[in-house]
Amino acid sequence: MLHSGHVRIEIINTGTELLLGNTLNTHGAWFGRELFKLGLRISRQTTVPDGDAIRDSLAETLQRADAVIVTGGLGPTSDDLTREITAEVLGLDLITDEAALRSLENFFALRGKPMVDANLKQALCPVGADILPNPNGTAPGIYVPPQLNRKSNCAVFLLPGPPRELYPMYHQEVAPRLRALAGVEAAHEALVLKFTGIGESDFHDGIDAKLAAVPGLEHGYCAHIGELDLRLIGNRQALEKGREVTLDRFEPFLISDDESSLEKIIVSLLAKRRLKLATAESCTGGLIANRITDVPGSSEVFTHGFVTYANAAKSDLLGVSPSDIETQGAVSETVARQMAEGALRVSGADIAIGVTGIAGPSGGSDEKPVGTAWIAVALQNEGTESFKVFHPRNRKDFKLSVSQSALEAVRRKLKEL
Ligand code: AMP
Ligand code: MG
Repeated sequence: MLHSGHVRIEIINTGTELLLGNTLNTHGAWFGRELFKLGLRISRQTTVPDGDAIRDSLAETLQRADAVIVTGGLGPTSDDLTREITAEVLGLDLITDEAALRSLENFFALRGKPMVDANLKQALCPVGADILPNPNGTAPGIYVPPQLNRKSNCAVFLLPGPPRELYPMYHQEVAPRLRALAGVEAAHEALVLKFTGIGESDFHDGIDAKLAAVPGLEHGYCAHIGELDLRLIGNRQALEKGREVTLDRFEPFLISDDESSLEKIIVSLLAKRRLKLATAESCTGGLIANRITDVPGSSEVFTHGFVTYANAAKSDLLGVSPSDIETQGAVSETVARQMAEGALRVSGADIAIGVTGIAGPSGGSDEKPVGTAWIAVALQNEGTESFKVFHPRNRKDFKLSVSQSALEAVRRKLKEL
């Protein structure tokens, strides 16, 4: 067993499309994050085109690494050679794995499609290696444990390229094996605390030194738009201490401690309180509704998403006063409040969000510069709260920032109820 801090894990991504720039190589970042949760790090990542190029890359890696994860090239076509070349480099024969063959036949039978001869090679496995089942596609993965490897002491994982096949296979088959190889269970756990409304500087002012003083705790930050993740790594005791130190100070800003998104937390708070939400959006163009409806189960708690971009839409659909728009402007506290209250009235929901703002690049003024937005949260029988935010960013980031501010206001309101 290796100590997790010293396990050298390398990734080899195969695929000509990755080098032509047609497909963004997201596997590297994804594995980085997933392995990090196990307290493991990638020591090197290599991208090679389809075909023969994997041979040299794999041969080199076997000399350096304790484990290598190869992605892609397990398909049925002639440029999918990962399986064949790996067996050759390791000096192992390939044989048909009967169980893998049956599950391939099942895969096609279930879909009423004929299985062609080209698929047969997907049931090939180096003698003695493990087949990693793939319930989401035709290419099973392969695990060659270090003791089978005749060339070095490196464990080899071959995994399919498509994320919807790769991710579940990693969780089911790869992570447990890596844990065992690295003795991770005893060594490390990771905890991610998601915050909003505070930034890295707040931590530097208050908590950073205290976290650094917790024995055996490693901590780090990752800032996103409208969100800050604090990563804690260590044994359970160190994590508990780190969490306590942090929440003592920043509990009101905590979104989640299990990597749940803000929208997911809101959907579950709404469900718990049996409340329904509606949105009335101008400058965010439906992004808030989109984020809410990304969450499974949102149909139980979300009723209406109005996108009222033109002034007439605000008046016609939500009853916003045309003369208030005229005198106060479409981006104003009054209009945000009337949008939220109108959405509440029309939808019959319990809580409604209204947002209106200036995304830019034009349309700003001294009084209302680009980046200004008004947000209102209206509740049945409890009145309406409204506030102004200022997020001077490009349009996309502005929309995301405003949606984050609005959702955070709803989260806080729901926490109070
Ligand atoms: P393959 O298993 O090589 O046939 O991969 C098939 C598909 O998986 C590719 O067309 C991509 O869409 C996707 N894919 C493969 N490798 C990557 C990667 N490194 N990052 C993101 N997507 C990938
Ligand atoms: Mg490929």
